[in-house]
Amino acid sequence: MSARNNDTYDVVGIGFGPSNLSLAISLEEHHANVLTNPVTSAFFERQPQFGWHRNMLLPSATMQISFLKDLVTFRNPVSRFSFVSFLHAQGRLAQFVNRKDFFPTRQEFHQYLEWAESSMTNVVTYNSSVTAIRRPPPGAEAPDCVQIEVRDTTDGSTRRVNAHNVVISTGLEPRMPDGVVRGERVWHSSEFLAQYHRAQPAQLKSVAVVGAGQSAAEITKFFHTQLPHAQVHAVFPSYGYSIADDTPFANQIFDAAAVDDYYYGDDPTREAFWRYHRNTNYGVVDNADIRALYQIAYDEDVSHTKRLHFHNQTKVKSVTADGHTARVLLERLDGAQRELGVDAIVFATGYATMDPTHLLGDLDRYCLRDESGHHRVTRDYRLVTTPELTCGIYLQGGTEHTHGLTSSLLSNIAVRSGEIADAVIKGRTERELAAAAAQVLQTADKSA
Ligand SMILES: Cc1cc2nc3c(=O)[nH]c(=O)nc-3n(C[C@H](O)[C@H](O)[C@H](O)COP(=O)(O)OP(=O)(O)OC[C@H]3O[C@@H](n4cnc5c(N)ncnc54)[C@H](O)[C@@H]3O)c2cc1C
Repeated sequence: MSARNNDTYDVVGIGFGPSNLSLAISLEEHHANVLTNPVTSAFFERQPQFGWHRNMLLPSATMQISFLKDLVTFRNPVSRFSFVSFLHAQGRLAQFVNRKDFFPTRQEFHQYLEWAESSMTNVVTYNSSVTAIRRPPPGAEAPDCVQIEVRDTTDGSTRRVNAHNVVISTGLEPRMPDGVVRGERVWHSSEFLAQYHRAQPAQLKSVAVVGAGQSAAEITKFFHTQLPHAQVHAVFPSYGYSIADDTPFANQIFDAAAVDDYYYGDDPTREAFWRYHRNTNYGVVDNADIRALYQIAYDEDVSHTKRLHFHNQTKVKSVTADGHTARVLLERLDGAQRELGVDAIVFATGYATMDPTHLLGDLDRYCLRDESGHHRVTRDYRLVTTPELTCGIYLQGGTEHTHGLTSSLLSNIAVRSGEIADAVIKGRTERELAAAAAQVLQTADKSA
């Protein structure tokens, strides 16, 4: 699909990861139900093709959520876009069930997302980075819309489209420790596989991974398996890896109902969500991965072949790139320092939550904020704006402060994107009714 300059849409989506893919499907399913007057939509994605954290599609890494928390099932269990439909289409449904395991590999889930995306190519334009959202200039063709500026990443050309509603879903932002600069041998986990293959793995004789979360554990395991000739250093500030709590009561915080409990809860209630349940997702590791790493270390102790080294209660003080290597200064909590020379160091140091401020630019001054400086957001994920701004600006992500822990996760995307689609459709109906009423009044005025 190629959205043309100056086209006007009911919905423009920025980013086409799982969240906006789920929204596109929700709008498509709405249209299939009503058949007339489709909600017009266009989605812009800066990548050249669909991709979900491609650089972390490590062999046999598994999903952190059940396959039933796919793009649609919790909103519409009979959708043709479910993971079960995908398995059926691949001729793998029986085999999947025989595994007796709720958690597909990330590679298989990626295939599922690509399969769903292949039915949505009519609404998405790739190689398209949204660079700004603006109020239309005076006298513009669509004065009640916002203007979206889109840069073609292949030739740098720019076009503008108009939108009655914008849904921002640009995802998490990779986070490096202060003072550490990415480079040829200094990587963030979000770029891992691309950098790893570029670096000629046979030449990686000593590598380090910083962090104690799921990505750190996965990369450490990957290095150890893939580089049998290499010394592998795991550096983390905690005493050891902590387990991700995915037991049933804790798991309820990812239910759609928990969004209401969080949204309508008071400050102490919300704070308790984070205090008690942060360990369901942040800085924690799957039980199986923790055990696998421990077993590797134990086996190496037994066979006196140590090459997996844990530097616990340790932080990286500085990194100096030195040609094809990096010098890493480590500091233990007790102040003891040691230097490591490595051929590559990976910072699995997490991500910052999505923040739409930059993209909103000047438009941000119409968006209201709470006492802590966060954007105010309605229950249906719409930014609260001053009355001058009549267009809807919705967020998929970046609403941890209002909607809780699922904001940047997959758990609730089927329900959330349905709620946003409903809000957009309701808004359009109200707009059309208001326009019809204005027309009637105008006609009545003329004939009076
Ligand atoms: C390695 C890894 C594994 C994960 N596994 C799980 C899991 O198992 N379960 C779970 O619940 N969560 C998981 N997560 C959390 C993750 O946030 C979600 O899986 C998911 O990616 C959220 O989808 P999204 O569409 O909101 O964001 P993203 O998937 O990040 O998609 C955002 C898209 O927007 C595009 N974009 C950004 N800026 C622009 C712009 N200006 N113009 C155009 N396009 C733009 C990006 O290229 C990207 O494709 C994982 C995260 C990581 C990093």
